[in-house]
Amino acid sequence: MSIYQKEAGKVAVVTGGGSGIGRASALAFSKEGMKVCVMDIKEERAEEVVQEIGNTGGEAIACEVDVSDPSEVQRGIEKAVQKWGRMDVLFANAGINGTLAPIEKLSLEEWNTTISTNLNGTFLTVKHAIPYLKKAGGSIVITSSINGNRAFHGFGMAAYSSTKAAQVAFMKMAALELARYKIRVNAICPGAIKTNIGQNTNATEAVKEIAIPVDYPEGDQPLEHKPGEPKQVADLVLFLASERSSHISGTEIYIDGAETLL
Ligand code: NAD
Repeated sequence: MSIYQKEAGKVAVVTGGGSGIGRASALAFSKEGMKVCVMDIKEERAEEVVQEIGNTGGEAIACEVDVSDPSEVQRGIEKAVQKWGRMDVLFANAGINGTLAPIEKLSLEEWNTTISTNLNGTFLTVKHAIPYLKKAGGSIVITSSINGNRAFHGFGMAAYSSTKAAQVAFMKMAALELARYKIRVNAICPGAIKTNIGQNTNATEAVKEIAIPVDYPEGDQPLEHKPGEPKQVADLVLFLASERSSHISGTEIYIDGAETLL
């Protein structure tokens, strides 16, 4: 019997659910009998995940949403609530690496693109989920990163790291503010995970000018000698989303195979 049996029938909204960590988490939620609204800026990706869930007997809907757009976010969340009449879990996960460049060469537009997806997107999804989560309590999980929190060697990632640090501060503010409604809020900080995030990464040549070489002759992944898998992160997300973590709120959890302790 699953340790997550209390989660069956709950409704989860997953942003960036069409790929990587979001996709793996949507599948993990569904495996426990949760209904999943898979939101992604790329609708065809979300549709594929919905199909995968359907093939295993689960229930899901796809929703084309750009998390940086307030009206799209609001409409997406309403779609999930209209379909199933409730919302219990928000996994605010959509994010991009964006443009990697030295600060003096990073344009305001490039900076803003990263901020609006990663930080504004987190704010908007949390904001629009609150009216529904408030009804019976719930769990919000935010995908931050080692970058901006425990690691600062992602050269050229000033914008990205700033959003990831801000997400943790936002998570703590939200955890206190929403505790009265029995809404828990936590963040995960993954290290390197094998996903499609490279497709949303624009690394400029100029990064070479500011990079400080760091050498790990025996590799930089002490635990498994390779990047993590999305499924490993999904196991943590499921735990934080579930009642198994009922006393955990306002906490960031690193999931990096000890990479950032090196
Ligand atoms: P991914 O690219 O595989 O998946 C991200 C998904 O988000 C994609 O399907 C993409 O289409 C979607 N997306 C991008 N912009 C969006 C927007 N504006 N609105 C809605 N959806 C949007 O990458 P991933 O690695 O699974 O990334 C998920 C999260 O994990 C991100 O927040 C990322 O910063 C974080 N993260 C990833 C790693 C890693 O090594 N992969 C490490 C730490 C943190």
